Amino acid sequence: MAYVIPLWTPPALPIAGSGDTFPVRRIFCVGRNYVEHQKEMGGDGREQPFFFIKSEFSLVPNGGDVHYPAKTTNYHYETEMVVAIGKGGRRIQAKDATSHIFGYGVGLDMTRRDLQQLGKDKGRPWDFGKNFDEAAPCAALTPAAKVGHPSKGTLSLAVNGKERQKADLSDMIWSVPEQIEYLSQYYTLEPGDIIMSGTPAGVGPVQPGDELVAHIDGLTDLRVKIVPAL
Ligand code: MN
Repeated sequence: MAYVIPLWTPPALPIAGSGDTFPVRRIFCVGRNYVEHQKEMGGDGREQPFFFIKSEFSLVPNGGDVHYPAKTTNYHYETEMVVAIGKGGRRIQAKDATSHIFGYGVGLDMTRRDLQQLGKDKGRPWDFGKNFDEAAPCAALTPAAKVGHPSKGTLSLAVNGKERQKADLSDMIWSVPEQIEYLSQYYTLEPGDIIMSGTPAGVGPVQPGDELVAHIDGLTDLRVKIVPAL
């Protein structure tokens, strides 16, 4: 027996300061996890966050080019802390959650905002707005053994050197342990799963030629350039 098409290798994220990599199984994303971002998206700032999923094949490595995607005229950045699950489990309690975390990184939840809005308006899934080619640039992971479990510290994004997002990790509505508790009630978390933990206010559009630098204190900066569509 043989595979009838070539077998692919799993997408993986490098580990900062190491030659090792972290294979990625699934990408869970939390929506509306910062009050001021809820408000800029048209909410009242009091709703509960929720999750959606991106394909692991949408990862883009640090320093990579990100092609302006198809079928959008309103392509947005969302800067987020990435949480990498090293030990799986189900119905994990928040107080035990950090023992399931391998490490942390900086990511961008790139969004076709116009297609996401169409999904909202029509009560359809968000996939076309959130889950598409190159929609998840991520920097190298830093192990929790080195950085600890960041619950405060600055998250920021500059586009062409101009600051567009700035917030503190402590502004999250659901903390990372609370996200893991919630998510693991619905899914069996597996080693290799990563969670994009939500973006603060200040999201906005980018164009080909724009250079993005996303930062979280204690982690590796993420740098990508938007290039013309394929
Ligand atoms: Mn997001």
